[in-house]
Amino acid sequence: MERSSVSIFDENYRRVLENIEAAAARSGRRPSDITLLAATKTVDVSVINHAIEKGVKYIGENRVQEFLSKEPYYLPVHKHFIGHLQTNKVKDIVGRVELIHSVDSLHLAKEISRQSQKKNITSNVLIEVNAGGEESKFGFTPENAIEGALEAAELPNIRVCGLMSIPPVCAAPGENAKFFELLYKLFIDIKAQYKDNSNIDTLSMGMSDDYVSAIECGANMVRIGTALFGRRQTPVGK
Ligand SMILES: *Cc1c(COP(=O)(O)O)cnc(C)c1O
Repeated sequence: MERSSVSIFDENYRRVLENIEAAAARSGRRPSDITLLAATKTVDVSVINHAIEKGVKYIGENRVQEFLSKEPYYLPVHKHFIGHLQTNKVKDIVGRVELIHSVDSLHLAKEISRQSQKKNITSNVLIEVNAGGEESKFGFTPENAIEGALEAAELPNIRVCGLMSIPPVCAAPGENAKFFELLYKLFIDIKAQYKDNSNIDTLSMGMSDDYVSAIECGANMVRIGTALFGRRQTPVGK
């Protein structure tokens, strides 16, 4: 284990927790209302396990192969999948994670439903919204998100738990607030339109550069990589 990455983590973790606490207070919530998910792509299992020992309770991986190779070595932790998921890899993920954040099409939702039925389990998912309408990003448009969520929720063995978004990379802090506000509005609308809205409890938005703003706009789950583990060495394909 590299001593440096571990001490970098300790310092960063403290700062991130302080920022979450302050942002939660500004939005009238308690720190415990906000779930910190460590985005662990490219991070060594030894460092991830150190983070878990220090108190990280949720981790999210992006790539199926990387997840499958690291998963057997994680200390006990809540495991989520946060990256783009190809339908042919759904069978490898279903049943292995507690929440799939990245349901970006009805086609994918159907395959998750099918694989979940085969395994006789219910999969928890979030509907990914392409809030900035970027062509390079996956997800439902803000206009289609509610309908998509309602349709996905009708499928057997799927539980829709809320929304996830990766807004555009912004030049200035606070610039993404308009997208976060839009997402929060959709989250409230979806809750209102669900027959049984008790499952809809997660709004996953905010990353290293913008999690404070996301929390202030209503996020209750933030996915943080760089601000915890430092700059990634290996570039990650999208
Ligand atoms: C990598 C990643 C994150 C974390 O990004 P950072 O900017 O490093 O905090 C969050 N969500 C998803 C889907 C990611 O792929």
